[in-house]
Amino acid sequence: MTINPVELIRKKRDGGVLSREEIDAFFCAYLKGKLPDYQVAAMLMAIYFRGLTEPEMYALCDTMIQSGTVADLSMIEAPKIDKHSTGGVGDKTSLMLAPIVASLGVAVPMISGRGLGHTGGTLDKLEAIPNFEVNLSMAKFRAMLRRHHCALIGQTKSLAPLDKLLYALRDVTATVESIPLIATSIMSKKIASGLDGLVLDVKTGIGAFMSDYEQSRKLAQTLIAIGHHYGKRVSAFITDMNEPLGYAVGNWLEVKECVECLQGQLVPDLLEVTLTLAGEMLRLAGRCQSLEEGKAMSERQLQNGQAFDKFLKIAKAQGAEISYLKNLDKYPKSKYSEVIYARETGWIKAINALEVGFSATHLGANRLKKEDSIEPKAGIVFRKKVGDAVQRGEVVAEFFTDKKSAIVPVKVRLEQAITISSQPVAPLKKVLEAIPDEIVDSISR
Ligand code: URA
Repeated sequence: MTINPVELIRKKRDGGVLSREEIDAFFCAYLKGKLPDYQVAAMLMAIYFRGLTEPEMYALCDTMIQSGTVADLSMIEAPKIDKHSTGGVGDKTSLMLAPIVASLGVAVPMISGRGLGHTGGTLDKLEAIPNFEVNLSMAKFRAMLRRHHCALIGQTKSLAPLDKLLYALRDVTATVESIPLIATSIMSKKIASGLDGLVLDVKTGIGAFMSDYEQSRKLAQTLIAIGHHYGKRVSAFITDMNEPLGYAVGNWLEVKECVECLQGQLVPDLLEVTLTLAGEMLRLAGRCQSLEEGKAMSERQLQNGQAFDKFLKIAKAQGAEISYLKNLDKYPKSKYSEVIYARETGWIKAINALEVGFSATHLGANRLKKEDSIEPKAGIVFRKKVGDAVQRGEVVAEFFTDKKSAIVPVKVRLEQAITISSQPVAPLKKVLEAIPDEIVDSISR
């Protein structure tokens, strides 16, 4: 189909509806290098303001999926269920739930991303483990799934390459925060990865990508609707991201927290979110009848050591030097550490996840630009959560870095991120709402 890009941009700008053929021709032309960035940026901005109808959204998602190859995992007999989080601070559930679910015979083909800005990414956490290889060939990916029921890898070049191009353009044109663009971006990669079902962790709150609750819920419903359109089972949970999840923020520190948790040192809020997501993965896989049953099965895998055992097997098969996981003290230490003391007696009222995320970035734990390198040892370990009682002078957090210049600014920032109340404060509930697979059949935008 020959298109006039200006006509199509104008049509969307003025609230018109693009046909499937127009969407496909416009974005395929971009993929082939036949449209300049400025015209696609204008289209993205028009979509940002006008949105997409359901058929337009599915057309865009199809074009993105077909821009690469769809992984063929039909030879894996076990149900293939993944989890996706919209991103947060201290969000390390993948490292625990993947081995929990895989240890129960469900295949977890987990394709993860890197951290950017104030949020961390699963790939960076995995790469904090010496020699852990996240770039596997498709043959090795399949072999891992067959043998260990799990593979933890990064996005391959052939998986929805149009999304990669569009995401880079959205990043520099203030068009990231659009529900249809986010939803097609996430789901095109997930559908292309060959899964049967997906559990979504849609974060909400100050440290989330989408801080407004209603927007987070709408995103969740849109993601589920796209999944259903492709015949996949998809459930979502809206979870809190006002304070960091668990105590640790920073790549190796988070791996360490997960290993300790897998070995029985349970962190209540991290456990609540992990068991909920893992339980729902088991339910979507048909391994149990209810979420509660799935959570109980997952908890048993933690208690009987099988989840940790599975984690070691996966890590070893992906090349990791697992002596660092068996002996956490073997890991090198940061050059500098500093503590944050409580300035008054009372109860922790807030630990601002956004400020904590940016502090971790300053310490070297995350990137500001895609090309930046990261320092796996850097980060923060809290000793308190929202709702905990605290005495003046008590240690609330400790941070670690190799960058001497970061110490003073991060200390100031973290002190401001922590609020103490003279009145008792309730702990933050982490799982705020469940949107199970069964309840979203159509959405209105
Ligand atoms: N994650 C994605 O993969 N895409 C988006 O657009 C936003 C978050």
